[in-house]
Amino acid sequence: MLSEELTRYIEALIPDREPIVQEIEAYAKEHRVPIMDIIGIEAMLYILQIIQPKNIFEIGTAIGYSAIRMAMKLPNARIVTVERDQERYERALFYIERTKTCDQIDVLFGDALELYNEVEKHAPFDVMFIDAAKGQYERFFRLYEPLLADGGVVITDNVLFKGLVAANEIENKRWRQLAKKIREYNEWLMRRTDYDTVILPIGDGIAISRKRGETK
Ligand code: SAH
Ligand code: MG
Repeated sequence: MLSEELTRYIEALIPDREPIVQEIEAYAKEHRVPIMDIIGIEAMLYILQIIQPKNIFEIGTAIGYSAIRMAMKLPNARIVTVERDQERYERALFYIERTKTCDQIDVLFGDALELYNEVEKHAPFDVMFIDAAKGQYERFFRLYEPLLADGGVVITDNVLFKGLVAANEIENKRWRQLAKKIREYNEWLMRRTDYDTVILPIGDGIAISRKRGETK
């Protein structure tokens, strides 16, 4: 979405990450694991530092990159994260071990839509981060919103889907269907008056939705 030139410019201004973090980034690149891009994760971490969540729930661990970065940036936070791909799940455990973030991160293996009872044991959550199957965002949101604390925040990644949400014609059928799903999610999310939502055109598009308190 951002020009390649500007992306490189901003990335060059961002301080170097720890070697182990760079190693995870390199693994993701080599194995085509869709971890958050640098500008997106830096923006999200910044926002999280303002929120200071104690308890975070993440849907879509992949190889643990975002969970590990959150754990390192927020030493007082605990993170519960869910992944259904076994190879990625195991990679995540490996990197969590290596970054010594085991005390902060619990990884659950399985489909997020089937793990409610497990996840509930860790609730309530100050932040819920949705970064998994793009066609299921509304289902994830609806299933887990009861576990969100009052004033809690839902962060959804990839809501602009490489800009395809605004494209008139998309040739690839799978992409066309996904773009439609995400558009519907965005509209549904913006209609929810019990949340204040803003869509930030950072990374692949991030929606931030704060649940309004009872008194508002
Ligand atoms: N948050 C990660 C990237 C996640 S990529 C990071 O930025 O580092 C999305 C991941 O979600 C994939 O690894 C995929 O296997 C997983 N996923 C997709 N649908 C899922 C579901 N229903 N339950 C659990 N994991 C799911
Ligand atoms: Mg993502």
